[in-house]
Amino acid sequence: MSVTAQSVWNNCLEFIKDNIQPQAYKTWFEPIKAVKLTDTALSIQVPSKFFYEWLEEHYVKILKVSLTKELGETAKLVYIIKMENTYGNKQPFTEKIPSSNRSAVKSQDVDVPFNNKSPELRNPFVIPGIRNVKIESQLNPNYSFENFLEGDSNRLARSAGLAVAAKPGGTSFNPLLIFGGVGLGKTHLAHAIGVDIKDKYPEKTVLYISAEKFTQQYIDAVKKNNRNDFIHFYQIIDVLIIDDVQFLSGKSGTQDVFFHIFNHLHQNGKQVILTSDKAPVDMQDIEQRLLSRFKWGLSAELQNPDFETRVSILKNKLYRDGVEMPEDIIEYVAKNIKTNVRELEGAIISLIAQSSFNKKEINIDLARVIVEKFVKNTKREVSIDYIQKIVSDYFQMDVDTLQSKTRKRHIVQARQLAMFFAKKFTKASLASIGSQIGKRDHATVLHACKTVDNLSSTDKQFRKYVEDITKKLSV
Ligand code: ADP
Ligand code: MG
Repeated sequence: MSVTAQSVWNNCLEFIKDNIQPQAYKTWFEPIKAVKLTDTALSIQVPSKFFYEWLEEHYVKILKVSLTKELGETAKLVYIIKMENTYGNKQPFTEKIPSSNRSAVKSQDVDVPFNNKSPELRNPFVIPGIRNVKIESQLNPNYSFENFLEGDSNRLARSAGLAVAAKPGGTSFNPLLIFGGVGLGKTHLAHAIGVDIKDKYPEKTVLYISAEKFTQQYIDAVKKNNRNDFIHFYQIIDVLIIDDVQFLSGKSGTQDVFFHIFNHLHQNGKQVILTSDKAPVDMQDIEQRLLSRFKWGLSAELQNPDFETRVSILKNKLYRDGVEMPEDIIEYVAKNIKTNVRELEGAIISLIAQSSFNKKEINIDLARVIVEKFVKNTKREVSIDYIQKIVSDYFQMDVDTLQSKTRKRHIVQARQLAMFFAKKFTKASLASIGSQIGKRDHATVLHACKTVDNLSSTDKQFRKYVEDITKKLSV
């Protein structure tokens, strides 16, 4: 019976298969081809540099044991890195990696004698933050379903998440897009799905990544000419979670690469989970073809939690932190902080901190002070009164003057600016703006807005006014 590269490799595979997780075997060993056997050196072909790195980092021991069993102590493994250019052009090519100083080896291959030293050719495709974490998921175990309290505001998204976690890639919720305003639990829920999948299907490759980081990695990959490795890496993931996809807006290169990765995953029954601060229809500067993919599965909204949900979220948080707090205080906080969960948590944390640093008892007065600060600091809704005050201060006049019937040019301009900013920064109607700024009608306000628009594009000094006041209003 003749010994061939194939037969040696088959025996190795049999051994490896018995010793590692089936999914890992499928991912990392099935794609390998045995190509050549010279004496005791077996050459295998791997799909990418990244692949080679991964094998070296995670499976070098088992490779060594299996190959030594077949070929004896002098066994050597040679990697040949072949990359299928799956991106656009279908031409396969062989990537030539210059060999290190070891002269015995042919220069185009990566030769790895089993000397337990890592080969010098360690200049791989490094995906920051991923390679360091061996369980490459990047999931936060504290963000679990258990800790994600259910309420009317999140029921649909939460149950869809549970369904996806039970059968990743096997429901019609693919992609699952979770959207909603800041602090409403998008990131938490996205992690919870991943955590649950990892729990139920430990062999699945789950990856959580923010769209921002994804973009950065892509930019780096392009810089280092590693675009194919980047794509390949993402194409082997079973459950891909991308947080805050609105970040991709305007970034056409990243959108393009994501489009291809998405298609590949989707076609192969892999699960994609996305979060965004808006519904797909409201996303801007995202390519149409990508938006239409986003809508393929389910878009589930997270809304502001109602009072009961806010109370249970607070209680759960306090319970987990081992802090006791009187019921009426919890309710007071829940009643007054309505904007989002992050602020709710923030207020309760300040409350606990204040009371423990200052050795004050947590009572309703302390709660009132803290909640008030919180609401003031975070809401800062610009009112029409406030706008009039800022504008009159800027022109060193008082609000009465700004509102007066005079036709003096600089006063008229100040008034028009106040109207313009009231339109821009509040939700008030033209009529209501008019009635609050010197009892004018809606046509006057409309005219004011147009005048400001015109003047700021033709008059440099005037444009400066607009910019200065905008700054003052946005601090
Ligand atoms: P987003 O990503 O939408 O801005 P996060 O997921 O970061 O919001 O949530 C903000 C905070 O609120 C996190 O600490 C999260 O744990 C908490 N949170 C949000 N929704 C819930 C919920 N339903 N139950 C418990 N905690 C929640
Ligand atoms: Mg988030």
